[in-house]
Amino acid sequence: MISQDDIDAFTGTFDVSALDYSVFVEGKILTEGKDRLVENVLGLVGEAGEIAEKVHKHIFVEGKEPTKAELKLLEYVHNLVIKAGKVAERIKKHIRDGATINEKEIKYELGDVVFYITAIANYFDTNLQEIININVDKLEDRASRGVLQGSGDNR
Ligand SMILES: [Mg+2]
Repeated sequence: MISQDDIDAFTGTFDVSALDYSVFVEGKILTEGKDRLVENVLGLVGEAGEIAEKVHKHIFVEGKEPTKAELKLLEYVHNLVIKAGKVAERIKKHIRDGATINEKEIKYELGDVVFYITAIANYFDTNLQEIININVDKLEDRASRGVLQGSGDNR
């Protein structure tokens, strides 16, 4: 089993694999049980909203018509928000009604979320691997300075 120390040793040096990233993420989530599920789903929807806001500001500049590529980007962002909302809706029914979470359906929806995150990353000339590496570096830096909690991009 890969330990957090193993992953920390790799941070900033090598690409972090998807499986290593899963372990890394587990170590950075602060809540437990149903709170953990709620924290993660709210986090997903919140981040999708932040991306939508930033892309909106990027595209809709006064006096400038959006390009075809920008409209395509907007479509990716809409789909990301829609898919994140679908995940949230399923989790809400699970928490409110005790509805069983269909793991296969959740995996499909999460796959769609990853698809649109990748499409948005591609637009900005980056990729999922670089996004993961940047995220690991950012969270490790915040953890080392004791500012994982709180808000704002520039903590
Ligand atoms: Mg954010």
